[in-house]
Amino acid sequence: MNEVRVRFAPSPTGELHIGGVRTALFNWLFARNTGGKFILRIDDTDRQRSSEKYLESILSSFQWLGLDWDEGPITGGDYGPYRQSERLSIYKEEVERLLAQGKAYPCFCTAEELEADREKCRSLGQPPRYSGRCRNLSAADADNKIAAGQEFVIRTITPLAGETVVDDLIRGKVTFENKGFDDPIIIKSDGLPTYNFASVVDDCKMKITHVIRAEEHLSNTPRQQLIAEQLGYTVPQYAHVSMILAPDHSKLSKRHGATSVQEYRDMGMLPEALLNYLALLGWSPGEDREIMNMGEMISLFSLKRVSKNPAIYDLPKLTWLNGHYLRTGEQERIATLAIPFLQKEGIVSSSITPAEKERIGAIVELVRVKVKTLAEIADASRYFFTDDFDYDPKGVAKHFKREGVHLLLRRIQEMLESVDPFTAEEIERSFVQLSEELQVSLGKINPATRLAMTGRLMGPELFPMLELLGKEKGIERLRKAQEIIIQEND
Ligand code: GLU
Repeated sequence: MNEVRVRFAPSPTGELHIGGVRTALFNWLFARNTGGKFILRIDDTDRQRSSEKYLESILSSFQWLGLDWDEGPITGGDYGPYRQSERLSIYKEEVERLLAQGKAYPCFCTAEELEADREKCRSLGQPPRYSGRCRNLSAADADNKIAAGQEFVIRTITPLAGETVVDDLIRGKVTFENKGFDDPIIIKSDGLPTYNFASVVDDCKMKITHVIRAEEHLSNTPRQQLIAEQLGYTVPQYAHVSMILAPDHSKLSKRHGATSVQEYRDMGMLPEALLNYLALLGWSPGEDREIMNMGEMISLFSLKRVSKNPAIYDLPKLTWLNGHYLRTGEQERIATLAIPFLQKEGIVSSSITPAEKERIGAIVELVRVKVKTLAEIADASRYFFTDDFDYDPKGVAKHFKREGVHLLLRRIQEMLESVDPFTAEEIERSFVQLSEELQVSLGKINPATRLAMTGRLMGPELFPMLELLGKEKGIERLRKAQEIIIQEND
């Protein structure tokens, strides 16, 4: 087999959507698995809707995900340029060839005429279709109309009867009746190519061997095959990946939560979790495998195990995977990734000293055990950085309203004053000793202490947490809690 060459072809008309990432990932995995090339092509012929801002955002999402492209914007390559807006002369050449061969023609039909055609079809109970009115215009007539300044598009001729079969690697053979197709427009009245035409030309000129794309394009594929035939190209192999549906089986949209990569990034998802999760949406590596790193996904990936059934989006599963990667990721990297979230919470400053970085590392190490996103890390570590927190009212009712609790906190405070060195082990030893001395169980002492220190009922292991908080802070917070208890219980 020739070298595999696949492409992902986003239109820079919006942020990169997770459905798009899943398609891109399948292309990328297929290329990496087969030792082929992954090409990023920018479908930006829709000048109205395309913008540089979205292009930059798409490229930055790819970089964040670690999905590198062998050819495309920035990287370049032998088959560039990789932006359709810079390939207009290539499309022009191909159109001229079709016109010269009599395989394409200018069409001058007005919107009203086209509507009348459709109306006529409807009245005959047929699917709406272009009548072919301009197919047989003489060259002289066409030239005269052009000279008179009439607007026109260019269409290519497609067969009126017969069938076109798409041999899909995921769906098998899908047959389309040609009578359902108009002669497709390949150049619009503004002179720009249509998606179907530009895509076919580029897929051929960029030597794409496999077009792996979203199922919503399946209906374009027979049209593209017919255009490719007119151009004398061999068609690539196609694989249409199923839709991602919301849990209620409706189309996944904004109302179901985050949809763009940027939003997942802002939520504190890790790229490896998102990729692992998306890979499993429609692809099954077998053996019930769920947690896979990139290397494993690359070696196991196969289009044969991509399902043709819709995949159901499952946020709890993504969050679960994210928690796994947060807990097991290299500590320094996770801490570095958490810093912008701490900054967003306003609990660490914008410039961080090496000593602060080290402390943040230790805090993240402690709290990451129980959290599922980087944003949750910021929330879970809040009290390490600021005294500005409220006490959980449930905790207050349960632990701060108890008879004599301020005296208990006072004893804990005195005890902490004498813990030296202030390490988790020493702190624990002192707590055990105090519990025995007072005949009060740690089951009562610990939650009251945690509440005083953090305002919360839940959190990381108490003694390492106290060590990190530090003796002085610990004592200060116990004092403050006693004051509040006395005031409130008066
Ligand atoms: N620009 C098209 C899209 O974003 C590409 C479709 C294709 O892969 O051919 O949907």
